[in-house]
Amino acid sequence: MRKKLIAGNWKMNGSLAANQALVEALVAGMPVQCCDVAVCAPAPYLSQLQTLLRNSPIALGAQDVSAHDSGAFTGEVSVAMLKEFGVRYAIVGHSERRQYHGESDVVVAAKAQRALAAGITPIVCVGETLAEREAGKTEEVVKRQLAAVIHTNGHCISEIVVAYEPVWAIGTGKTASPEQAQHVHAVLRAQLKAASTHSDRILILYGGSMNAANAAQLLAQADIDGGLIGGASLKAPDFLTIIAAAG
Ligand code: PEP
Repeated sequence: MRKKLIAGNWKMNGSLAANQALVEALVAGMPVQCCDVAVCAPAPYLSQLQTLLRNSPIALGAQDVSAHDSGAFTGEVSVAMLKEFGVRYAIVGHSERRQYHGESDVVVAAKAQRALAAGITPIVCVGETLAEREAGKTEEVVKRQLAAVIHTNGHCISEIVVAYEPVWAIGTGKTASPEQAQHVHAVLRAQLKAASTHSDRILILYGGSMNAANAAQLLAQADIDGGLIGGASLKAPDFLTIIAAAG
């Protein structure tokens, strides 16, 4: 039985004051027993979050990581730097990185590899655009994106987390139906099974306008092992409702 994971992706939101208020409300509202929970914060706030989350059940995540170890890569953040702030998870290949920063499948796979080598769990995002879905290419796209990560990381992929995030559902208020999401999750599960003998332990999260109202239905699907939550993770009551729905 896989323990569910609910991870918040704060994206480029927050401030010292807002982060403190949000984390204090989350910590105060966390159920005594619940799923695994993480918040993925902007890099400048990792130090603040490390302090705020100390002795709490909430893990710290980053929103990206460099594919390089160190050197002349202006603006990038290495796994070694993330480790110094107690980071446990790093999102890689978010569609906003693929779309606005031209990240290829190969780069995403290299980022996952760097994270794994440092003992940070990469949350590998895959997902199709609306045009790709309408062209009947959903399975082809997500399988291609995941295949690159499998190819580069071999048996280590049993340590990754996958997030299926249909691009058309991110920040749009349009959620994949539980059946649509489950269908793609089952496809990804089969691909992981073919690649790893330990695939049973790999979490596949759903992301894309998951919120307090629709979380329970999505999380009830057999292959949905949690959520990657954008907008709703910035509101403590909503995020806590999603955490409760994950059990
Ligand atoms: C995300 O950015 O990963 C995400 C799922 O965003 P939202 O929940 O706002 O759609």
